[in-house]
Parts: sequence; C-alpha cells; structure tokens
Amino acid sequence: MKDIAKFIAGFERFQAKYFREDRSLFSRLRQGQQPRALVISCCDARVDPAMLTGADPGDLFVVRNVANLVPPYRHAAEAPGIRAAIEFAVKSLGVEHIIVLGHSNCGGIQALMDGEGITQRNYEFIGDWVGIAKRAREQVLRELPQKPPALQARACEQAAILVSLDNLLSYPWIRERVDQNTLALHGWHFDIDTGELLAYSAESATFGSLVSGPAPDQRTDA
Ligand SMILES: [Zn+2]
Repeated sequence: MKDIAKFIAGFERFQAKYFREDRSLFSRLRQGQQPRALVISCCDARVDPAMLTGADPGDLFVVRNVANLVPPYRHAAEAPGIRAAIEFAVKSLGVEHIIVLGHSNCGGIQALMDGEGITQRNYEFIGDWVGIAKRAREQVLRELPQKPPALQARACEQAAILVSLDNLLSYPWIRERVDQNTLALHGWHFDIDTGELLAYSAESATFGSLVSGPAPDQRTDA
C-alpha cells in the first residue's frame, strides 16, 4: 500500500505546483490542448516520455503500447486504439512531429525475438501484437545470425522502430504532410544501460548519438 501513498503524495506536489503556485499553465490548457509532438513509446515503466524529455503538461500527445509499435494503415488484426490516437493527433491537433521512442532491454522486442516461445509461455495477446514488427526480427536473424542474443535484441529494437516509421508513412494523411514538410517523423532509441539517446538518420541509415551518455567516471554505478 505504500506505493499508492507515494503516488497520492506525488499528485499533491503536482497540484501544488500547477494549481496553487502558478496557475497560468493550466488556465491556458483548460481552453484546449495544442501539443506539438505525438510520441509513440513503450509501456515499459522505465521509459516515460514526459519524464525523459522534461515535457510540461500539454507538450506531448502520447500513445504507449508494448514495444512502441505502429500497425500499418491496413492491418488485418486491427488495432483501433492506436490508429484512433494517431488520427486525432495528426488530423485534429495538427502535431508537427511524431517520435517513435524505443528503448534497450525491451521485453516486447524480446518476446518478438523469442518467436514461438512467447505463446508457449501462456501469453495470449503479446505474440500477435509484437508480430507487427516480424520483419524486423527476420531482418536481424538474416543479417546477424551468429551474434549474441542481446546484440540481436538491440538490433531488433532499432529495426522495429524503422518498421513503425515505415508503417506511419502508409497512412495517406501522414504521408501527405510529410511530403509537404509540415510533419517530421523521428526514430529514437533510449539506452537504459548508458543513459544515451540515439536517433535514426535517414542520411546515414544508422542510429547515431543525439545525446551521448555520461562518461563512465561520471556514472554513479561506475
Ligand atoms: Zn519496451
């Protein structure tokens, strides 16, 4: 029960900051939201987009799901929740950026790499869901067949981000705005081991450092 007490105390601090000390932000936000970015991130408890980016209330429109996946525009298994959220963010809110935020040590991507193993472990839904990125898994097994599982998983995390970016472009009203340069797509990968943030560069076709991790001697666990 002490966890719930922690969360209630946290809300009290939030309330004090935004509803007692300075009401200006929420007096503006109660008129409506105007987020400039849609973030599609993993459900993982270690990867909260607002905390990672220092966003204030109203800054980010966030969709979270297992392994931060975007289904293609036409997807046989249907995924109305995320598709509705993307539609609202793009058509109604007019976001200017969509960030697909993946991360290291992702359990969803591990499940994807496990393949058949996930259904044998009594999970009913995860296998189908992560199957959205099955071509990321196939690519990794084809290109890195002899590499250790941890390295394959990391490669798959990044490849799955690219599958999601590609799938975003299958939505005609996203493609149109990207072509008009009024919407930019970003693929980010947060390394929870080192604290580094990587971003995909279409120019180099690789993930490179956007914010490097602290040097080992600056890390408290070094
Ligand atoms: Zn994850």
